[in-house]
Amino acid sequence: MEDLKLNSFPRVQELPSGLIVEVAEWKVSDLSDVATDKTGSGLGKLLTDCIVIEDVNEVYGFEKGQKIQPDRLLIGDRVVLLIHQRIISHSKDFDFDCRCEDRFCGEKIEWSFDLRRLLLPTVPDILDEIEMKKFNEGDHPFKVVKEEDGFAVVWPEKFGDEPILLGDSEIFFKPLSEESIEILKGDGLFTFYVPSLGVDGKFRLFAGRDENKISRDMKRRKKRKELGALFHRIVSIEGVSEKEKEEVICSLKSRDLDSLNENIELYDCGVESVIEIECPTCAESTFVDLPLLDAGFFSPASRKRRSSRGSTSR
Ligand SMILES: [Zn+2]
Repeated sequence: MEDLKLNSFPRVQELPSGLIVEVAEWKVSDLSDVATDKTGSGLGKLLTDCIVIEDVNEVYGFEKGQKIQPDRLLIGDRVVLLIHQRIISHSKDFDFDCRCEDRFCGEKIEWSFDLRRLLLPTVPDILDEIEMKKFNEGDHPFKVVKEEDGFAVVWPEKFGDEPILLGDSEIFFKPLSEESIEILKGDGLFTFYVPSLGVDGKFRLFAGRDENKISRDMKRRKKRKELGALFHRIVSIEGVSEKEKEEVICSLKSRDLDSLNENIELYDCGVESVIEIECPTCAESTFVDLPLLDAGFFSPASRKRRSSRGSTSR
């Protein structure tokens, strides 16, 4: 039964960068590669059959009808695309276990999350009726409709019969801002202030190829492995030569990193993976980071088999 519904789920997805793609299902061979290689290139294989419909903001310069190049896709785009693929390959329901954060409770929570929520662009604008109409006339695979107590998102192809009601704290993906688009079309370097040195630095937003580079670099490095991503993230710091760069980065202060992270948050796109849930035991709300790239995400059946055997390995 589920298969019929999966077949009718829309295959068109707008990504945070504005790239619109025709989404391909996962192939068994690619999934087995991911199981052995969880780095960027392993995940990238899952995306290679997706076809460009339109590169609306020309962030990548992809031609219509070409296969996407996963190495060049921003991480935010890759994650949204993987989520759409997960839905059409398996199910919209993502089941996972977590723990209640309340220190008096701490009970295990079994949760099921509707992944369709993460396919929606951040659309506070659609709450305005004119914007909503414009949105609905566009190319999106879902529509926004007015309900008695607010608005709801409806998948017109009847996938999952229940609409998603939009609440105050809804999760959407964050699209790339116009400023970020301009920078990415230029040199791709974003500016952040380094307070402890009183100068500016430049950083990049990560794409698939950066994840590959970082994982290769991690293997190569003997020391400071954990800083590999940061060395790669920060492209330059004013007045610091390429040779001194790693030393200077190692001596940066916490507030410098705060400044960097604030700017990444400001400029980057993608899904908000931290969700708020209510603990069924104590009714307190607890925050959970969705285990999006875990084994249960890629092959939910294996998780079911495991739990039906009553595994106590967790
Ligand atoms: Zn609890």
